[in-house]
Amino acid sequence: SIILGIESSCDDTSAAIISGNKILSNVAANQEIHNEYGGVVPELASRAHQQNIIPVVEKAFSKANIQQNDICAIGFTRGPGLLGSLLVGTSFAKSLAMSLDVPLIEVNHLQAHILAHFIDDANPTSPTFPFLCLTVSGGHTMIVLVKDYFGMEIIGKTIDDAAGEAFDKIGKIFDLDYPAGPIIDKLAKEGNPDAFQFNKPRMENYDYSFSGIKTSVLYFIQKEVRKNPDFIKENLNDLCASVQKSIIEILMNKLEKASVDLNIKDVAIAGGVSANSALRKAMENNQEKLGWNIFIPKFEYTTDNAAMIAMVAKLKYERGEFTDIRTTATAKYDL
Ligand code: ATP
Ligand code: FE
Repeated sequence: SIILGIESSCDDTSAAIISGNKILSNVAANQEIHNEYGGVVPELASRAHQQNIIPVVEKAFSKANIQQNDICAIGFTRGPGLLGSLLVGTSFAKSLAMSLDVPLIEVNHLQAHILAHFIDDANPTSPTFPFLCLTVSGGHTMIVLVKDYFGMEIIGKTIDDAAGEAFDKIGKIFDLDYPAGPIIDKLAKEGNPDAFQFNKPRMENYDYSFSGIKTSVLYFIQKEVRKNPDFIKENLNDLCASVQKSIIEILMNKLEKASVDLNIKDVAIAGGVSANSALRKAMENNQEKLGWNIFIPKFEYTTDNAAMIAMVAKLKYERGEFTDIRTTATAKYDL
């Protein structure tokens, strides 16, 4: 089966072609327009999706060396995400499915981040059920108990900011561009992670909170900048390394607790923040320390991409789970 996947939930327009579990092409257009605003501007995002979607889909076909008539279904992100952005991909998928007379398959973006682990070249081996997946992105932070492809249970989640949001907002305090996560990751490599200490939340169960560390960084910076206007510039690498260490420790503590309590040793990470090098390192350390089998997605399957959408569409195609052509996009969409 050859399937086209389309992703447009936030600020990346992406299209991918999957054959079996193998990705033939995975094309994305990033929207640099948001960088100067320090965050994604929804109206600009949907306009950029409209401009990008046709060239991106055409490129996905040509890179895969596939004709439009060769595909047997179209998968698209129905939610969650920015409604205006989702609408572009959804409308496009619907009209192409109608004109090619192939079935339409709706995909939950969060399931897709997790099920990206089943793409052929995503891991040397796929995780076995049940496994734990720390799903960390710009909009979500949660520990998911994955019992089956579509049997997922959220056992813990953030009560306020997502981890990616914390990276981005703290980056903004440091005057870094958006998204700051990858920049902090890079600068942290030259810094001392023990240079500064920030407050850690005390949360029940497997839940997270990241607004506290953001406020703690903000107050600390305001205080230091009053004494020395160049404080950020002079300490940027150390600040980034310390912030990154705190966020990763918060993430890993709960994940380790869940793994011990549930006695599950197959542990995966997914979502944009799973690109973070310190998080990857912490996962690797637990292979030895806690006997984990770890699953870390390839870089191109971490941030938003259509390959993961095509992967879920393929699983649903095999089950005959198709979507009515009258479907609409949805900004909120539970796992
Ligand atoms: P969601 O998937 O919850 O709808 P999203 O689609 O906006 O949110 P993703 O594209 O999955 O999120 O991830 C983007 C987030 O990942 C941003 O917050 C970005 O800063 C963060 N991020 C990307 N790379 C890194 C990195 N190397 N270190 C830390 N954070 C990173
Ligand atoms: Fe995402």
